[in-house]
Amino acid sequence: MKIAVLPGDGIGPEIVAQAVKVLEALKLPLEMETAPVGGAAYDVAGHPLPPATLDLAKAADAILFGAVGDWKYDTLARELRPEQAILGLRKHLSLFANFRPAICYKELTAASSLKPEIVGGLDILIVRELNGDIYFGSPKGIRNSPDGLFTGAREGFDTMRYSEPEIERIAHVAFAAARKRNRKVCSVDKSNVLETSQLWREVMTRIAKEYSDVELSHMYVDNAAMQLVRAPKSFDVIVTGNLFGDILSDEAAMLTGSIGMLPSASLDKNNKGLYEPSHGSAPDIAGKNIANPLATILSAAMMLRFSLNLANEAERIEKAVQTVLAQGYRTADIDTAGMKRVSTSEMGDAVVAALS
Ligand code: NAD
Repeated sequence: MKIAVLPGDGIGPEIVAQAVKVLEALKLPLEMETAPVGGAAYDVAGHPLPPATLDLAKAADAILFGAVGDWKYDTLARELRPEQAILGLRKHLSLFANFRPAICYKELTAASSLKPEIVGGLDILIVRELNGDIYFGSPKGIRNSPDGLFTGAREGFDTMRYSEPEIERIAHVAFAAARKRNRKVCSVDKSNVLETSQLWREVMTRIAKEYSDVELSHMYVDNAAMQLVRAPKSFDVIVTGNLFGDILSDEAAMLTGSIGMLPSASLDKNNKGLYEPSHGSAPDIAGKNIANPLATILSAAMMLRFSLNLANEAERIEKAVQTVLAQGYRTADIDTAGMKRVSTSEMGDAVVAALS
C-alpha cells in the first residue's frame, strides 16, 4: 500500500513527522513517499502543486497531507498561492466527500469554550460536499451591474448550483456513515430561500427511502448554527453542501477544545482519500516544536480505516491518543493546570509508546 506524504508548509512538516512515526511503529506494509506541496513546492518547483507531486498523489492509495500556506506567499498571483494545492488535489482526484468528526474527549472538556455538560462526550460527524456549490459554480466574476437599484455600479457575483447526481452521491455517503454510527442524519440547507437547497432537500428525502433504518431530519443552516452551540449532542451525522459545511465544521471544531485535535478525510467514490488535520499551517508557531500533532495522527487513523481497510490498526491509534490524554500529556493549545506540557515530538513519542 502506497501513501503519498505531503507535509507542506508552516507546522506541516513537524506534525506530519509525528503521524509518520506512529504509522511506522505499527509495522504495516506501507510504502511512504514524500513530495513537496504548497509554498514548499513553489520554492523548489515554481508551482504549489507540481506535476510530480500530483502524479504521486494519483498513484498512491491514500494521501497524508499536512497544511499549506504562509504569509510570505500572500503577494503571489492567486493560481500560484500555496492554498491552490489543496483545491487542485480535491479537484484532480474528485475528492467530493469531506468527513470531519468532532469528538470532545472527556479529558479535554475543560478546554472547550462551552460548558462541560454541553460538550462532554460529544461525538458528531459532519459530512460536507466538497466539489460543488457556490465555490465552483459559474458564472462568477466582478462586472458592472446590468440591472437593479445600482445599475452600472461594480458588483461581485457567484453562482450556487448543485446537480441531482452530486446531491445523490453525498447523500449515499452520509447515510452509509450513519449506519455505522447512531443512524441519524440531519441534512442542513436553506430551502426556505434557495432553489439549490430545495432540490437538495428533495433528493435527500428520496435517497433516505433506500436507508429506512436511518432517521432523516432537515434543518435550515441558521438554525443548525444555533443548535450546534445550544445542543450539539443532539446530532449524529450532519450532511450539508460546500459553503454551509465549511462554516459549520469550523464552528464544530471549537466544541472540541482545540482545532489541533480535529482530523479530516476527503474521499472519492472508491474511498481513496486525502487525510489532513482541519487546521492550517499555523505560521505563528511554525518551527517551534509546540504544535499539537494529534489531529494529524488521528487523520492517519482515519486513513487506515477508510482507504486501507485497517480498522483495527486505526482503533489502536485512537486508543493510544486517548491514553496519552488520560496520562495528562498536553501540547500548549490544550494545556490546563496540573498537566504534563510536552512538545510536538514528545507528543508523537508518547502516542508511539501508548500503542504498545
Ligand atoms: P490556522 O489553522 O493555521 O491557525 C489558526 C490558529 O490556530 C493559530 O493561532 C494557530 O497557531 C493555531 N493552531 C492551528 N493548528 C494548531 C495546532 N496543530 N496546534 C496548536 N495550535 C494550532 O489558520 P490561519 O492562521 O487562518 O491560516 C494560516 C495559514 O494556513 C494561511 O496561509 C491559510 O491559508 C492556511 N490554511 C491552510 C489550510 C490547509 O492547508 N488545508 C487550511 C486552513 C488554512
